[in-house]
Amino acid sequence: MSAPNIETIVSLSKRRGFVYPASDIYGGLGSSWDYGPLGVELANSIKNSWWRWVVYERDDIEGLDSAIIQNRLVWKYSGHEATFSDPLVDCRDCKTRLREDKLDKNDDGKLVCSNCGSTNLTESRPFNLMFRTTVGAASSDDDESALAYLRPETAQGIFTNFVNVLNTSRRKLPFGIAQIGKAFRNEVTPGNFIFRTREFEQMEIEYFCRPEDAPAIHQEWLDGFDQWIGSLGVSASNLKHYEQTKEELAHYSERTVDILYRFFPEREDESKQWDELMGIANRTDYDLRVHSKKPEDAEGKRINSDSTEDLSYFDPQTNERFYPYIIEPSTGVNRTLLAVMMDAYEERTNDKGEVRVILKLKPELAPIKAAVLPLAKNKPEIVEMARKIKKDLQPSMRAVYDDTGGIGKLYARQDEIGTPFCVTVDHESLVDNAVTVRDRDTWNQDRVAVDALKSYLAERLG
Ligand code: ATP
Repeated sequence: MSAPNIETIVSLSKRRGFVYPASDIYGGLGSSWDYGPLGVELANSIKNSWWRWVVYERDDIEGLDSAIIQNRLVWKYSGHEATFSDPLVDCRDCKTRLREDKLDKNDDGKLVCSNCGSTNLTESRPFNLMFRTTVGAASSDDDESALAYLRPETAQGIFTNFVNVLNTSRRKLPFGIAQIGKAFRNEVTPGNFIFRTREFEQMEIEYFCRPEDAPAIHQEWLDGFDQWIGSLGVSASNLKHYEQTKEELAHYSERTVDILYRFFPEREDESKQWDELMGIANRTDYDLRVHSKKPEDAEGKRINSDSTEDLSYFDPQTNERFYPYIIEPSTGVNRTLLAVMMDAYEERTNDKGEVRVILKLKPELAPIKAAVLPLAKNKPEIVEMARKIKKDLQPSMRAVYDDTGGIGKLYARQDEIGTPFCVTVDHESLVDNAVTVRDRDTWNQDRVAVDALKSYLAERLG
């Protein structure tokens, strides 16, 4: 099973310290969320898994960390200033601001307000999603010369560094550049917990290749990401592909396939249960061309009169110079974390008839790998032994010590946050120098010698 709805994960997250509403003591801020002690661990583990798979386990990808605030010209030539907008409508009756492309139509083909059901909506107008800021000692907030943007995607910092990375790493096509970082979009209708927020984190790969190789490489990345998402414990039955139609494609894209996750299993209409977890686009040679000083339009005018660089590639084997095509797999950290938590969620009834929550996270992702629990906290020898075991485990895995409740409660707490193993120190431990190791998923218990504990856990954690 997986979580019945996002709400279940919202309350688990708040109760246990995965994700809290941001600025909560001041009434919150719409769609801002803070990652608590367990949430930051889970997010880091997801990012580490991605980075390891993409940068370390392949031979053709370099890492990068580019700036959030770039020269405004980056966003002029990328097309974001002119076109990075959503169609906005206002409901004249309830005054809600809505994204036109997300609204349902009634039987007469008229758009319906998702808040109050009215069809009395304004004409749609484009609303640019980039957050504006000013850089340096600007004379006023609307000083155009100081205007800058918070990046709405990490991708552009990769394109502008294409030649830097190519030269410094002595790469040849095909190769890719990977980056993880925050992106900002002034979304018209944020919501659904961490699914759509105005500040979020992306994991993006820009994979540069010869134009004729792009379609096959696109398919390889799709298959690769199906596998990677599966390796995080997300079941295939909750994933599917969506091929964007010609009308939906971004201006730079030749083909985009989204990987959807069943984020809304409670919705009766099956087709509405799905939404985008990530997208994989064939961006063609659009990006490297528009950021280059050389290319000209039909009238012989340079399309970029500000760039100082030509981002083309010279192939020494064929003696050709051209602009590489780019395949872009773009994944949201936050949506991945939500999918991982929803899929890991399980409820089980124990022999006392109580419902217990188990978060069946892959051990690799679990925020805490082992919890060491003393059976009697009023017995100093037991407490001391448990604390020492925790300390000994610490360098090789994230372990915690907890004596803040009865053993049943402590087990339940660790199950709920996905800790794969609980290590219990009891009276017998003082005699046989062994502990009980309880498995989160089966609730089976093994007696393990303290000397063998580290290797026992390491082997089972994989
Ligand atoms: P949507 O159609 O849901 O607005 P998008 O197609 O605009 O998303 P992309 O520009 O393809 O999104 O961004 C790549 C990935 O970044 C998305 O698949 C998603 O995981 C993540 N992402 C984009 N916007 C947000 C957001 N506002 N909040 C959280 N994650 C986001």
